[in-house]
Order: sequence, then C-alpha cells, then structure tokens
Amino acid sequence: MAHIYDTIIIGGGPAGLSAGLYAARSKMKTLLIERGKFGGQTATTEELENYPGSMENCTGPGLVERMRKQAEEFGTEFVKDEVLEVELDGKVKKIICKKETYEAKTIIIATGAYPRLSGFKNEIELRGRGVSYCATCDADFFTELDVAVIGGGDSAIDEAIYLTKFADSVTIIHRRQGFRAAKTSLEKAQKNPKIKFILDTVVEEAKGDEILEGLVLKNVNTGEISELKVDGCFVFVGYLPITELFKDKIKLNDRGDIITDEEMRCDVPGVFAAGDVREKTLRQVVTAAADGAIAATTAEKYIEANFAE
Ligand code: NAP
Repeated sequence: MAHIYDTIIIGGGPAGLSAGLYAARSKMKTLLIERGKFGGQTATTEELENYPGSMENCTGPGLVERMRKQAEEFGTEFVKDEVLEVELDGKVKKIICKKETYEAKTIIIATGAYPRLSGFKNEIELRGRGVSYCATCDADFFTELDVAVIGGGDSAIDEAIYLTKFADSVTIIHRRQGFRAAKTSLEKAQKNPKIKFILDTVVEEAKGDEILEGLVLKNVNTGEISELKVDGCFVFVGYLPITELFKDKIKLNDRGDIITDEEMRCDVPGVFAAGDVREKTLRQVVTAAADGAIAATTAEKYIEANFAE
C-alpha cells in the first residue's frame, strides 16, 4: 500500500470534482476514483443554462472538464478504476478496486445516479435499438426522423428541446397535465414548432422486432389505446442513486439515497456523501457542487479532530 490518503472521493461528477477542488485546496492528500467518463450525468447534458455564471455556449462536458482541470491543478489525483468493495468501519477506510486497494482517513461518496426504466413492454429488448436514455449520446442517429420523449421533468423537457436540433419531430409523452420541469424550459418547449405534447398518457409497449417502429399509448383517463409511429424513444423518467456498494454499511432511505446531515456526514464517522446520490430535494449541478465543497470542508474538520499529530 503506497500511502493513506486524507480523502478518497468515489465518483467524478460535479459533486466529486468540487469535493476534489476544495479538499486539494485545503492541502488534503486527495484521490478521486471514477470508473467511467468524468462528469457523470452532466457530461451528457449538452446545454447548461442554469449553472450560475454559465451563459450561452456552456456545455455540460465543457464545464466538467474545466472542473476536473481545476481540481487537478490544486493537486487532486485521479484514477480510472472500479470500486468493488468498501470497508468503512475502521478509523482508516479501505477502498478495494479492480486494479488496486486504497486507504484513506475519510471517504466522500459522490457516485451519482442512473436512469430509471419506464417499465413498458419491450423497453429492455429495444434498448440501443431505438430506445435510449441519453440524447447527447444518441440524438444524431435520429437526424430527420421522428422521436418521442417520455417524462415531464427537467431532463425530459431539456432533452426534448435539444433533440429538435436533429429530429424532424419530438413528441413529449407525459402521464399527467402538470410538469415538474422549470417553467422557463417548459415555455421554450411549448413554443418550439417541432415539439408536440401528448398528456395524460403512458407508453404501454414498444413495437418492433429488431428496431423500434412505434409506441402503443394508453390514455390514463379514458383507457383509450392508440399507436404512435416513431423511430426513437428517449426515456427520462427520473434517476435512482448508485448505492449498491453501501447497502447495509451506511444509512439509506427507501429509494436507496444516502442520508446525510447538512454537513454531508453519513451515519458512519469519516464517511460523507455529496450530490445526486444523497437524499435531497433539488438535484442540480449547482447543488452537487455545493455538496462537494461542504463534504470536503467537513472531512477536513473530521481529520483535524480525529488524526491530530
Ligand atoms: P424527475 O424530476 O424525477 O421527473 C421524472 C418525470 O418522469 C416526472 O414527470 C414523472 O411524472 C415521470 N415519470 C416517472 N416515472 C414514470 C413512469 N414509469 N412512466 C412515465 N413517466 C414517469 O426526473 P428528471 O427530469 O430526470 O430530473 C431528475 C433531477 O435532476 C431533478 O431534480 C431535476 O430538477 C434535475 N435536473 C435538472 C435539470 C436542469 O436544471 N436543467 C436538468 C435535468 C435534471 P410525475 O411528474 O407524474 O411524477
């Protein structure tokens, strides 16, 4: 074992990157472990209009790359590896990864969330064959074609607007009349001539053997069944936290979100959580970044109190 880190951050989205910046600026020996692409969900968000200071031409990938570089310049070390197991109980915590095992005085969990399935028939079978969960990744496959978007939250509305740059038409299918999405974005979508809305409606089934050909819809008020011919279907019905590794080790709520106090402490001493992985009401890049900053600062105080030389 090379050395004990002051903090190991698991996850390289805005929460983890911000924790990295704050920890490294406090001269903590900091390691950030990410198994995939840095940036988390933000790396798949093309247009970012609501991160303070970000205006036109601010993309998710651009912002997170600047966050990563900034954390690196202050001394955060980065590794690409997959965490297989965590040992959180001892004073020194152990993170067992595929390639190596690391030790740290504190752990900051910033593993984020993954897209939920909508639950219609054939959803899994046609995933990657017309059914998608990422507009940034797949929008260009649907250039000049017709697509549907399922959901009524910020993701559905923002991504529907983005998809109009590629598709001929975008039909938003939402199960009720009210939307969770921010009003500004909703109004923008309502004014977009390429976007249509089908409300009070759920998708029952995806049609097609090898490739998506259409959707079977059901009106939730009348029970009426109809079919919509589309080439693509983007599902944005929320996200679930990535907390499988921490089950039975730290306190989670019924959804699996990590429960923290306001200073990002989990119920195990020396373990903190930040961003979408924790129980909170507003999941945004700005709140993830704030969580990361708070987690790193609380971790620093914890080390001062528990590892005094
Ligand atoms: P969300 O806010 O949880 O919205 C999920 C949407 O999917 C809701 O409209 C919900 O309907 C619908 N839904 C849930 N399960 C469904 C099912 N099985 N079938 C059909 N529809 C279903 O999720 P999100 O839009 O992914 O956003 C997640 C978080 O990230 C939110 O906090 C959001 O504000 C944030 N976010 C922010 C931005 C931004 O600020 N620009 C962008 C993306 C995400 P009901 O409303 O009826 O429950």
